[in-house]
Amino acid sequence: MSVKKWGNFNRYWINGEKGTLNQTIEVINPATGQVIGKVPCGGEELAHHAVEAAWKAFPDWAGRPAKERSVYLQAWADKILNHRTELAALLSVEQGKPIAEARGEIEGAAEFVAWYAEEAKRVYGEIIPASRPNQRISVLRQPVGVAALITPWNYPAAMVTRKAAPALAAGCTVVLKPAKETPLIAIALFDLLMETGLPGGAANLVTGEASKIGNAWMADERVRKISFTGSTEVGKKLMRRAAYHVKRVSLELGGNAPAIVFADADPDQAAAAIVDNKFENCGQMCNGINLIYAHQEIAQSLSEKIVERARQLKVGDGSEQGTQVGPLINESARKKVDSLVQDAIAKGAQVLLGGHALTDGVYQHGTFYAPTVLTGVDDGMNLTKEEVFGPVAPILSFANEDEVVKRCNQTRYGLAAYLFTRDLGRVHRVSEALEFGMIGVNGTSLSVPQAPFGGMKESGIGREGGHHGLEEFLELKYISMVLN
Ligand code: ADP
Repeated sequence: MSVKKWGNFNRYWINGEKGTLNQTIEVINPATGQVIGKVPCGGEELAHHAVEAAWKAFPDWAGRPAKERSVYLQAWADKILNHRTELAALLSVEQGKPIAEARGEIEGAAEFVAWYAEEAKRVYGEIIPASRPNQRISVLRQPVGVAALITPWNYPAAMVTRKAAPALAAGCTVVLKPAKETPLIAIALFDLLMETGLPGGAANLVTGEASKIGNAWMADERVRKISFTGSTEVGKKLMRRAAYHVKRVSLELGGNAPAIVFADADPDQAAAAIVDNKFENCGQMCNGINLIYAHQEIAQSLSEKIVERARQLKVGDGSEQGTQVGPLINESARKKVDSLVQDAIAKGAQVLLGGHALTDGVYQHGTFYAPTVLTGVDDGMNLTKEEVFGPVAPILSFANEDEVVKRCNQTRYGLAAYLFTRDLGRVHRVSEALEFGMIGVNGTSLSVPQAPFGGMKESGIGREGGHHGLEEFLELKYISMVLN
């Protein structure tokens, strides 16, 4: 089937060449439990080779005219789009997401590359009025150097391009490590990048033992930048290690997104947007809604509308047409989701829908979980503090604006928050008061190439997307010159 198109996946890419290892890691389709590929299980040695190649390639890549870098990126974007059908099929069997979502992710991944192919040409400097007549002050923006990119399994295609495209556009060379659950799509994307004839060493991909590779990169002073998306726990570890050589750090970590629905909101619009967002990628989205705060006057009617929509979702193997919710990534993810749900039930939450794993019949070999809606959720339950990362919609109620803003801001996270209201004054007040990096008003779509995606507090540092995303890979250099 479609996976075969990419041949044997036992390959890494270093210095423009592929290599294989005898020791491999198996990759499993979470819908069927079947092994769909084996990738190299690299460690420190491979990590060092990759950095060596990136470091040697840096002066040449950084020195090329932006227009030239842009041409490679545009070629990569075109190749991704030309292969979108095969890439989406691969992404779906590897990660579990429905084929329609997988296609959307691949197209979005290509869009990021195409956008940065353009933005590469707009890295402008500055001339600043000097203090003396014979002085000139200028500011250059230069690539930081070798960038280490570590990507997660939930959006394993989009995260590769969201990091690699701005880094390469800025003139950085990169070493990338995908998550062990989803390395295949990263390999396929790198195959296409290498087909563009990108200069050897500008982009390198390794797979293997996360902590060994991560530690090797953090300890290497030639790596000047780390861009990581994943858990807050691992992000903190990397940040501590990055401190040793004072590497530049961009982190996109966990979220605990609230969606606040005020009494004056359009209830159908709110319910539709919440269900679409909440069950996308089986709830495994860092900016996905974690907690739904409904004003007490509308809590019951909103809950009914959410249940009505969620009940219709078709759960199944993502690669089957019509599936809307796939499996969770693995068994430990499913156990975590279930333990948060059972904790809430034990503490008094009512189950309006689901509330259990799906283990029979067509679901028996996968890691499926029933779309779940809970009401009567309160701040004492574990799922109000921890990211659920599953198909669970917990509904809480609130009485007034000040109270709900305060409760939402209690979390240590600050990635995304959503609000639904038709009151313009409230839109401004609440958006300004919420301590989150991104606010969705009357809708939940956030990730586009031109806007700065990222969080506050323990949700991270830095932004991806937009010209802001390019800044993450650039250093300022101030030149003061005396004319002679
Ligand atoms: P999740 O909880 O989403 O699986 P992780 O933070 O564990 O998130 O994983 C995100 C990425 O970080 C993956 O590529 C994973 O392999 C990598 N990773 C995990 N542990 C480490 C580590 N100690 N050092 C570097 N990278 C790591």
